[in-house]
Order: sequence, then C-alpha cells, then structure tokens
Amino acid sequence: MRRPNPKETGSFHSEFLAEAVRNWLRWQHGTRLTEPRPCPDCGEQHYRKHDFKERIFAILITDDGFEEIIVEYRRFWCKNCEQTVSADLSSLFYDDCLYGKPIVNLCLTLAADNPPTAVENHLQKIGIQVDKDTVARYVREFGDKFAERHGITVAGESLAQNVLAALFDVGTVEELKEEYGEELAEAGIDDVAGCADETYPAKKGAKKDLYEENMERKQEGKNPRPHPEGFTVALGYLPQLDCFASVQCRNTAFASVLANALGMPMEGVAYYVTDDEDCYNDTFPGRVNCLFHRLCARARDDERVEELHKEGRYEELEAYLEAEYETLYEQEVEELKEEYPSFWDEETGEFTGPVTTNAIEGGNWRMKEKLGVPYRRCRSARGRVLLGAVSDSLSVYRNGRPDVSFAQRHGTFCFEKIMADHPPRSPDCVTAPPAPPVSIRAR
Ligand SMILES: [Zn+2]
Repeated sequence: MRRPNPKETGSFHSEFLAEAVRNWLRWQHGTRLTEPRPCPDCGEQHYRKHDFKERIFAILITDDGFEEIIVEYRRFWCKNCEQTVSADLSSLFYDDCLYGKPIVNLCLTLAADNPPTAVENHLQKIGIQVDKDTVARYVREFGDKFAERHGITVAGESLAQNVLAALFDVGTVEELKEEYGEELAEAGIDDVAGCADETYPAKKGAKKDLYEENMERKQEGKNPRPHPEGFTVALGYLPQLDCFASVQCRNTAFASVLANALGMPMEGVAYYVTDDEDCYNDTFPGRVNCLFHRLCARARDDERVEELHKEGRYEELEAYLEAEYETLYEQEVEELKEEYPSFWDEETGEFTGPVTTNAIEGGNWRMKEKLGVPYRRCRSARGRVLLGAVSDSLSVYRNGRPDVSFAQRHGTFCFEKIMADHPPRSPDCVTAPPAPPVSIRAR
C-alpha cells in the first residue's frame, strides 16, 4: 500500500465526534481472530497451529499523525494439503476489502450521497484515513456484488438490478404482496402500482466535448446536437412505498429488452405509469401514459396555447393548462377507478394510485443530485446509482420532516448481505462489533 500524505482533521470539525470514533476503533486494536475455517484448497478441517499475522483494521488521523488499528489473526497448517490457512476473518472483514467492515460500511453509507473525494473529506474530519481511490473501489465492489446477487440476467449479462430483492428478499411485487400483505394493509396500501422512467447523466468530459463539437457545427452552419453523451439510467419505482424496485445503469441506448429486464421485479403490480417511450410498449401491457406527458403532447398541437404563448399572456396560459390538466385528470381517474377499484378511497373520494411519473421523476432528480459529479466509467456510476436507490428507499426523512419509509420499517437490507461472501441468512446480521465501554483517554 502506498503511504498516504499526512492529514489533519483541521479546526472546522466536531471534536467529540472524532474522539468518539477514534475511541470506538481503538477498542478493536489487538483483537485476535483465531477461529479456523475449512481449508479453501481441500476442505480439510484439521490443522496444526502456525503463526499470527497482522492486518490493518483502520487508520486514525490524530494530532501526532496516523495511528494504525491492528488486529491479529492466526494462521494454520492444513494437515491434509500442507497449505497455510488463515483464521476466519469474516466477523471483521469483507473479502477483498482493505480495512474493517465498519469502515467499509461507513464509506458506502457516505458514498450514497457523495462522490469519493467528498467521502474522503468527510472521513478526514472525523479522524479516519481512507483515500478516494479506496472509496471508489468499494463503490464498484458494491455495484458488482449487487449485480452478481440481484442481477436480472439475460444471456449471461446482468441487464438490470433488482432493488426489491435487496430490500425485502423477494423477487417481484407479486411476492412482496404475498410476504408483506399485512404490512401493506397496515400502511393503507390495498394494491401496488409501478412507474418506470429513464434519465441520462452526462459522462465525464462529455459536456466539454459537446460544446466543442457544437462550436464546429456552428461554423459549418449545422444545427447543434442537444445532449452530451451520457449513461442510460433507468429506474423502476413503487410510488406508494416510496421505494425503488429496479435499477439499470448502462453504456447503451435504452431498448425494449432493457425495459423488459427493468420491469421484471415489478411483475404483479396492478398497472404501470410511464412516459410515452416506445420501449415500454411490449413490457408493460396496459400501461398508463403519464398524464403530464400527455398534457404536454396535447399542448404542442393546441392553437390556444400557441396564441397565449406568442402574446406572452403567461398567467392565462397557466390557468388554461391547469384547467386542461384538471379535465384530463378527471377523465383518467374515472377510467382507472373502473378498472382498478382497489385504488379508490371511498372515504376521501380520491384515487390513491399514481397517474403521472412525478414520483419517479422526483426519484430521478434525487439520483442525479446524489451522483453529483459525472463519471467516465459505467461501473463506477452503477455502484453509486445502486447505493443511491437503496438509501433513498430506506429514507427516514422526507419532505422536510422525519418520515420512516416502508422499506426501512419492514425491509431486510444490510450491507453485509451484499458485501459479505457468505451473507447471513437471518436479517439480524451483525455488521459491526459491539460498542466499547466509554473511556476518556488522556492525550
Ligand atoms: Zn488443505
């Protein structure tokens, strides 16, 4: 490992948080892992004791420089094949990840909302040394393992990832309705509807490339190209649960086969709402076209709209479009009510299912906001999109107030289930060692 440049926490940070973090991690120092595991080469479980090796659990940033938190693990000789075999490290480490699980989990938590450079900076302020490349590696690892475990695979390629599976241990909405029927009823959800939408975050450098290309095109008298090259991020969403069902982040244009993979986890929804993208046609039979998109399409051919727009009578235009929307909405609800009576709330006289893709466009917007910076590599973007989708679905704060989401209340997600090589079967998995007793260290 390359030695990192010296760091300090600086004066603009919370000393109590940094000190609490340091104390908690120091408590791990000197831990010895001695539990044997079956020999990875031959499966034998008879060993002779060998030696102890050290592994870095965490690196702290202190006033005196870096402080390594070291744990030791026993090594054995396999009695059968004579290989050296390390003790079982899985209680404190994920395979292939530098540093202990709590550090990796913390990096991933922060990486849901921050690019790796910002994660490094956050960690520095609470006295933990991790460089941005390591954070980026964890993010890619998370995306890869997620795709391995919960990928929707067509011809050997993981085309989309099943977020529902990571959140609830179910494959489809159909299964969710079976397994979580009581909880859904408790939340006042009689039946579930789904939304799907795509967004195209620009690739790193693509905006500059587009600018330069369009300057050239201008000189040649050609029309400018409208969009920079981007990734195709497609999202399946369950608006009543405020939860993502599926995610796709790809280098290729959206296509029917991709829409199909995206839709698989949503099998069992009463109906879908999408924009008028043709790729959804085969996958989502009977889909409802988003009311807003339909209103926009109608407005484009509306003479009255053109007239008001030309004359700059924007207040009148707004009132006109609102009235148009109202009419469309009522027609739509009248039809949907007939077809999907379980979404009709007799008491309030309201239709409780989605009629627009608003909810997912909010989700799209939050995703772009979370991504923050453009990416060059699809793998990196995918890792962050997945982290974003999971963290957004597990929200405990929404619309300016504490609000616990359905997946947070009833779901089974933990990092261990994605990152560990042998994820625990029980949802009550341990992701960190127990908290140490409080101690004040003299400086
Ligand atoms: Zn062996």
